[in-house]
Amino acid sequence: MTKDSYMLRVSKVQILGDNMKMNDYQLETILRNLSTIKDRSPFYQMKYKDIDLTKIRDQKDFETLPFSDKSDLREVYPLGLQAVPDKEVVRIHSSSGTTGTPVIIPYTKKDVEDWAIQFERCYRMAGITEMDRIHITPGYGLWTAGIGFQAGAERLGAMAIPMGPGNTEKQLKMMVDLQSTVLCATSSYALLLSEEIQKRGIRDKLALKKGVIGSERWGDKMRKRIAGELGVELYDIYGLTEIYGPGIGISCSYKNGIHVWDDYLYFEVINPKTGEVLPDGQVGELVITTLRKEGAPLIRYRTHDLTRIIPGDCPCGSRFPRIDIITGRTDDMIKVKGVNMFPAQFEELIAKFPDASSEYQVMIDHLEGKDHLTLFFETKLEQEKRPQLEKDMAKEFKEMVNITIIPKAVNIGDLPRSEKKTPRIFDNRY
Ligand code: ZN
Repeated sequence: MTKDSYMLRVSKVQILGDNMKMNDYQLETILRNLSTIKDRSPFYQMKYKDIDLTKIRDQKDFETLPFSDKSDLREVYPLGLQAVPDKEVVRIHSSSGTTGTPVIIPYTKKDVEDWAIQFERCYRMAGITEMDRIHITPGYGLWTAGIGFQAGAERLGAMAIPMGPGNTEKQLKMMVDLQSTVLCATSSYALLLSEEIQKRGIRDKLALKKGVIGSERWGDKMRKRIAGELGVELYDIYGLTEIYGPGIGISCSYKNGIHVWDDYLYFEVINPKTGEVLPDGQVGELVITTLRKEGAPLIRYRTHDLTRIIPGDCPCGSRFPRIDIITGRTDDMIKVKGVNMFPAQFEELIAKFPDASSEYQVMIDHLEGKDHLTLFFETKLEQEKRPQLEKDMAKEFKEMVNITIIPKAVNIGDLPRSEKKTPRIFDNRY
């Protein structure tokens, strides 16, 4: 398709204002992709072997196709997802293999470019320009983080400072010496850095204006704390290794959800138990279909991220639709005393108590035939005032979720911080 005809289509979509309903461009692209997918992808040849794809004609038909999941992708390790000849693959990335076989995603030259285009859009949405100096702390290597931030920054024309994670001393020195204006980090690392900056009293020596924070679900309290301590405006960036990487969406300055690039991807939200597609506005699991990916196209890929499609237009005027900030993962769901709970509920509880800080950890044990849930949280309160706060929090949680928990106050800094994702739920029952 020529650039002009693409622009034409985009404006058509704009007029339709169709939000997350599959638009004409998406439907056409998906049908075209499906017509050749079995020839290109050994993975989908197997997966769809009993399905006549010529019968898929509209959104409703599309919604009958089976989902793809990370476990399917693992089964074809290492390169079973590859849907182009070897000569077209220019790079691979891999999702962390901490829980088993990793997933390898091959990228073509165009995939790499498309990802950078989307990332550049993210920076622009956050008001970042070629005059900015972008301090990149996410890791470089097999996973998609650092290099995505870098490619987007270079495409934008900004100065990329490719730090990678770790060595806080050096991070702060470079931030001061180079006058970095944008910090890219996971929320845990941004918190760690903001605490170190506070401790050293060097905020005045920094030029930080914005933070692009991603890859981890984080509560409002933590967000406010980082923004407050760093004195910067924060933007949530979204993405996952299986679908390009970070950069497939970002919040705008109105901070009311994450704008996502629906000309590259098609988004659905489903009931994670039944697989049924949910109406806009309802919370469920985000499912993504790639529209232009060549190296490893994915159809109806289950992200396990919980969110909702936000109906209506954003006051910022962007035509790109929005999903809500990720509120959890379907696999973070814990069942205690027969009740399903999400980490977001602990964040909601903590947010109600100004004396409780943003950091928390949940321990679940099974003692004498009963489940016990202990919620550790940080506070500046003096020892003698803590028992009352703990009691109030237990009472509030009981009202919210109808479960008795044991809140335990600890000092600020007592709970572990990490450069990657901070584990918060420890289930010791099994
Ligand atoms: Zn907006």
